[in-house]
Amino acid sequence: DIPVADEPKSTANLMPDAQIVTAVRHWTDRLFSFRVTRPASLRFRSGEFVMIGLPGEGGKPILRAYSIASPSWDDELEFYSIKVPDGPLTSRLQHIRPGDQIILRPKPVGTLVLDALLPGKRLWFLATGTGLAPFASLMRDPETFERYEQVVMMHTCREAGELDYGRELVGSLRHDPLLSEMFGEGFAERLLYYPTTTREQGARMGRITDNLTSGKVFADLGLPPMNPAEDRAMVCGSLAFNVDVKAVLEGFGLAEGANSEPREFVVEKAFVGEGI
Ligand code: FAD
Repeated sequence: DIPVADEPKSTANLMPDAQIVTAVRHWTDRLFSFRVTRPASLRFRSGEFVMIGLPGEGGKPILRAYSIASPSWDDELEFYSIKVPDGPLTSRLQHIRPGDQIILRPKPVGTLVLDALLPGKRLWFLATGTGLAPFASLMRDPETFERYEQVVMMHTCREAGELDYGRELVGSLRHDPLLSEMFGEGFAERLLYYPTTTREQGARMGRITDNLTSGKVFADLGLPPMNPAEDRAMVCGSLAFNVDVKAVLEGFGLAEGANSEPREFVVEKAFVGEGI
């Protein structure tokens, strides 16, 4: 007898735009990541976001913007999410398990794309909290390293545990056999990582803006001060963070660009509102 595989139960009764959850990992009581199937028709540029959600009361879906954290070449899609205790979406989304369905509108958009920046030597990713997500995509895209000699990931959170998702990802990429094969043995030196905490005591502390303006990050990493000839940047955090970083970058002589007009840096909100 030839064994016949059962249809996975989860593909029955799919909602419109449904995708199936394939993996979930909880990082802290406020952060989790998950992977879902990728619609065959979905093309996106690493760094873009889509609308995802769950069905709400009365059938109207609750949808929110989410950066795709996986690179454009991946067979699945990964997301890195906050858990807002009373949040209409994340109070429920945090309970998803493999086999569950989520809604995913396959219309990717966003400003944090390589095409929105001029060529340069060094690319800085500046993120707080879940603002890391678009850079989790871009760091895993070999095109980032084809375009830039060095990539610096600065990530700031209140507590050390909130850095774990990014720390684990950077660690695995620096020793990724495929990337080493593509870019040579010295690849690990091309992806620099500068995590800091603002509340919990740790090896490196402080806000991204302070570490840039004081010059501490340049001294610690052995880099020249940021300058418009060599440096490009992408920013993703709370509205207040974005405003502060924009002023710092402009102070170094960098100008904001867009898809339609590439310049030295681009900015995107990690969420709407004050943050938690
Ligand atoms: P909401 O009603 O949306 O928010 C409730 C409160 O929580 C608000 O005060 C809000 O300021 C705060 N909040 C919302 N999201 C966050 C967050 N991520 N970090 C800290 N505080 C937050 N969220 C992600 O977790 N991962 C992403 O990759 C992501 N990408 C986004 C991309 C864009 C362009 C935008 C605009 C938002 C993005 N968000 C992301 C936020 C997301 O859209 C939702 O706000 C979040 O999922 C919470 O939904 P909710 O319905 O539970 O609560």
